[in-house]
Amino acid sequence: MGLANGRTYLAIPGPSAMPERVLRAMHQAAPDIYGGPLHDLTAKIVADLKSVAQTKDHVAIYIANGHGAWEAANANLFSRGDRALVAINGSFGEGWAQSAEAMGIVAERVDFGRQSAADPDRIAAALRADKDRRIRAVLVTHVDTASSVRNDIPAIRAAIDEAGHPALLAVDAIASLGCDPMRMDAWGVDLLVAASQKGLMTPPGLAFVWFSDRAREDTKTADLRTPYWAWGPRAAPSEYYQYFCGTAPTHHLFGLAESLKMLLREEGLEAAWARHAALAGTVWAAFDAWGQGGEIALNVANPAWRGASVTAARIGGGGANLLRQWCEEKAGVTLGIGLGMAEPGDAAHGDFLRVAHMGHVNAHMTLGVLSVMEAGMLALGIPHGKGALDAAAKVASHA
Ligand SMILES: *Cc1c(COP(=O)(O)O)cnc(C)c1O
Repeated sequence: MGLANGRTYLAIPGPSAMPERVLRAMHQAAPDIYGGPLHDLTAKIVADLKSVAQTKDHVAIYIANGHGAWEAANANLFSRGDRALVAINGSFGEGWAQSAEAMGIVAERVDFGRQSAADPDRIAAALRADKDRRIRAVLVTHVDTASSVRNDIPAIRAAIDEAGHPALLAVDAIASLGCDPMRMDAWGVDLLVAASQKGLMTPPGLAFVWFSDRAREDTKTADLRTPYWAWGPRAAPSEYYQYFCGTAPTHHLFGLAESLKMLLREEGLEAAWARHAALAGTVWAAFDAWGQGGEIALNVANPAWRGASVTAARIGGGGANLLRQWCEEKAGVTLGIGLGMAEPGDAAHGDFLRVAHMGHVNAHMTLGVLSVMEAGMLALGIPHGKGALDAAAKVASHA
């Protein structure tokens, strides 16, 4: 018998659960794009987006997904042949490096594996070795969604400064914005990218690039910049259409305005960060207990290196794939697939999954996912330690 009928839950790291309010806000007739309320709404969204990133500087909005955000960042930062130092701890760091290379940028990778945060000393060493200062920017993922590793952004800023290198610091916060603390100005981040469909709880389709005054000044002559991707007019338009280099993404803006209101003016950003930390803690506690009696482990052993919005884990013997299938078919919960942790054809390929706890999620959703996972382990005979749900409930009880 299955127990999947009822409201399904997509617990994958993007698109995340969309609040009904956001969807309802989108359900309206097309607005005038040449004047009226949409213009005021857009100005408010711009101000709110700066608050979410904790910056006073600039933001450009694009009709794009996360890959578009990378391309926007690359186009505005670099000239053809420029060098980027890319810190890699998962598929998304690698994805940004490849995006840069495809545009004619030389990507110098510093690979930290899939279980560890970037070591600031190695970044400083790579910058010191760049004697003729050809590295224009350091690209780093805040939380790599594939591995769930979180990098220490202030420590990387300190490493750049300590090396005395002028490189800009560019951060991919697509998986973390609104979930893990991000203080763009205080942390000395020069460029930040995000997208609508993760912590910002809005359907896929909007990408954001925040940039500092310094990034704007330093990249004035970047020759990869093309009219559509140029951030200047989007961040400081003299006509409304320049915000989007054409027709506004009207309904996405309606949705986003609602989600930003929920995040900033109802829950509050700090409370949202605390909620994600607590929910992540329930997931980590459950996995720790399961791991006591089976081939089950969190991907990132060091809690200081774990993102609060997604958890990657291993369940050996192909257990991860079997469990994902069971949860979806029998219980109405879809977990994330493992991404970039083992090659297809490798015996370990079915051993990885990800649990998202990102955006519009609360205790009953995340604790519900954990109990369903335990039910699946029982049904499938996957060996696991006892007490996982108790441990998760205990973490939630302290929140
Ligand atoms: C989701 C994600 C991306 C890619 O976003 P798409 O919308 O799938 O193009 C890039 N970086 C990170 C960290 C992500 O989580």
